[in-house]
This record gives sequence, C-alpha cells and structure tokens, in this order.
Amino acid sequence: MKSANTILSGYGTTVFTVMSALAAEHGSINLGQGFPDQDGPEDIRRAAADALMDGPNQYPPMMGIPELRQAVAEANHRFHGLEVDWRTEVMVTSGATEALADCLLGLIDPGDEVVLIEPLYDSYLPMVRRAGGVPKLVRIEPPGWELPSDALERAFGDRTKLILLNSPHNPAGKVFSRDELEFIAQLVRKHDAYAVCDEVYEHLVFDGRPHVPLITLPGMRQRCLRIGSAGKTFSVTGWKVGYITACPALLAAVAKAHQFVTFTTPPNLQKAAAYGLGKEDAYFTGLARDLEAKRDLLARGLAVAGFEVLATEGTYFLTVDFRSVGFNGGDEAFCRHITTEAGVTAVPVSAFYQGADVDHFARFCFCKQDRLLSEAVDRLKAHFGGA
Ligand code: PMP
Ligand code: GLN
Repeated sequence: MKSANTILSGYGTTVFTVMSALAAEHGSINLGQGFPDQDGPEDIRRAAADALMDGPNQYPPMMGIPELRQAVAEANHRFHGLEVDWRTEVMVTSGATEALADCLLGLIDPGDEVVLIEPLYDSYLPMVRRAGGVPKLVRIEPPGWELPSDALERAFGDRTKLILLNSPHNPAGKVFSRDELEFIAQLVRKHDAYAVCDEVYEHLVFDGRPHVPLITLPGMRQRCLRIGSAGKTFSVTGWKVGYITACPALLAAVAKAHQFVTFTTPPNLQKAAAYGLGKEDAYFTGLARDLEAKRDLLARGLAVAGFEVLATEGTYFLTVDFRSVGFNGGDEAFCRHITTEAGVTAVPVSAFYQGADVDHFARFCFCKQDRLLSEAVDRLKAHFGGA
C-alpha cells in the first residue's frame, strides 16, 4: 500500500481525545478537554431547534447566512468599535478550527514562514506544515508566560507570511496586553505580513481586563483575520460555528479555501448563533463573571491541595506546577496518575510544546459545575494529603 500523507500521519491522536478516553475508561472527573458540562442558554438552543424544524435545511449561502454575518459585524462594532461590512468582510465557518485551516490554506504558499507562539493549540502546527509553511516557533513559558520580544523579533524575516496569534491564550490563560500587541503589530507592519488572530476566548476574560483584538491597532485593519467561535461564546462547543472578520481582499483569499473544505455550515446553528450574538450585554458579562468565579473556586481548592497555581486572565483553563505536591515524574505521567489513582483528569502542558522540557505543569479546565470542581479538589486533596 502506498503511504498516507507523511506530515499528518506523523501525528498521533490529539491529547484531548486521548485524555477524555482515559477519563471515561476510569470514570474520573474530566477537567482535561475544554468543554462546559452544562449546555448553553436555553433560548439559544431553542432558536436552533426552531430553525431546524422551520427550515430550510438545504445548503445556506457559501459565506454564511446574512443574519449571522450581520450579527458578527454588529458584535465587532458593539464590543470593539470596528466598522465592518458584513457583505465583504465576514465569513461563517464550521468552527474556529475550519476558520484556522481556511486562513492557513488560503494564505500560505510552500516555503512561506509562519511565526507561532508556543504553547500551541493542537491544530496549528500540522495545518501550517500541511499548507507548506515553515514554522518559526517562539516560546512563552510558565510560570510568567512573558513574551520574549528579542526572540519574537528574530522569528520575523523577509519570508514571513503571517503570525498566528492566540489571545486569550490556550493553555496559558494569558490575555496579551496592549503593549505586547503593539510590539507584534509593529513587526507585522515592518515585514509586510498578516496576522491570523485566534480569539475564540474573546468573551472569557476576567478581572475587568480588556481583550484587545490586534485588528483594532493602527495599520492592522488590512492585515488581520480575526476568528471567533459560537461554541465558546455560547457554551455549545459541539456546534462548530466559527466566523472570520477580515478586509475584503484577505477574506476573499480564505473563502477560496472554505469553498473546498466545507463550503457551508448547518443553517439552523448559524441562525441560533446570530440570535445569540444579539443578546444583551449582561449575557456576555455574566458569562465571564460566572467563569471567573469558577476559576477562583478551582484555583483556591488546588492551592489548598498543595499545588502551585498559576495566574489565569482568561479562557477555560488554569495551569498548576505539581512538583509542590511531591510528584516527581513528568507531566504525562502526572495526568495519567491522577486519572487512574485520584479520579481527576487534566492535560499535560508539554503536549502544547515541541520538545519535552516544560514537563511539570498540568492544565485543568474550570468550565464545570461548582460541585464537580469541589469534588475534584476533594479527591486531589485526599490523594496527595493536602490540608
Ligand atoms: N482555537 C483554540 C485556541 C481553541 O482552544 C479551540 C477550542 N477547541 C479552537 C480554536 C477551536 O474552536 P471550534 O470548536 O470553534 O472549532
Ligand atoms: N479546545 C479544547 C481544549 O483545548 C479542545 C478541543 C478539541 O478537543 N479539539 O481542550
């Protein structure tokens, strides 16, 4: 038999699937893969159910239904003051995952360099490489996750096509500051590059901190592709409805990929996402406030259990250094150990890096019901003998 594609066949099954399967096998509390354990608002789900029954259920327009493209344009204005033409500057995709693939396939030519910041969300590197891009990796590292400006500057060059930036960042929980974004924007302008901005956690930002989209910075409007996800914004991760906002020339380039990758996205889910984006401000602030309280609950509990808990400014995730509970193995061993022995599952942070030198940190997901978070903490306390 001839071999399959050498780039993709070199990758194993993603860590999220592996750890969720292990959690299911051992009946442990799954704080690994990032998904809420309660479905999103009933009115949004009702809107999807009604649209499914009312129809039409045939192919919607390739760029997305007008209601959702309008809602995305309006949300850009409401939350960030951006003027967006929904007809030429918004496209709907089947999740942010497809949006990322479309941007990379639509923009990268073989040999183009792509700047990426480790730790990396799992799909980035395979898709950059499959598109023919040459990855230039820069690291942020726990516990501080500081952006190394010299290394970032060195990663850019004449052949840089784009930077892929994730803020708020999974798994670091870091929300890039305006100063950091200005530094990145200046490099993008200097090297005549683009920025693919993965902002799926844009509404999950805590402590009154602002989320600043790179596209709002001077000179960035024509260079950025901003990606959002209804799955994250409405706590319905299975829906896979994403959207891209970009200037007409960039959007047209990525639409070329979208038309051959999925072409369209289920129309009823698009309709419900449009309804959701129109909800009052209180919905969005309430989402962040609820998650912030869950972050605090889990962070406090894990600290009492003896872990060193790192700060989290946004997303579903917090990271701990587990050496303080006396576990001396690597992070994969730790995540397997707590799954099988304590009944709680996390994911190893090394899975987000190339190379295994960041090996004593684990990521826990806190978008779960309070009683589950408390039970997970109790199990870890009992296991590691915390106070
Ligand atoms: N980017 C990041 C950083 C994520 O954490 C996720 C979550 N799965 C995605 C993209 C994909 O989002 P979606 O489920 O909308 O495809
Ligand atoms: N984004 C989720 C996480 O980081 C998982 C998505 C997936 O399973 N591919 O856990």
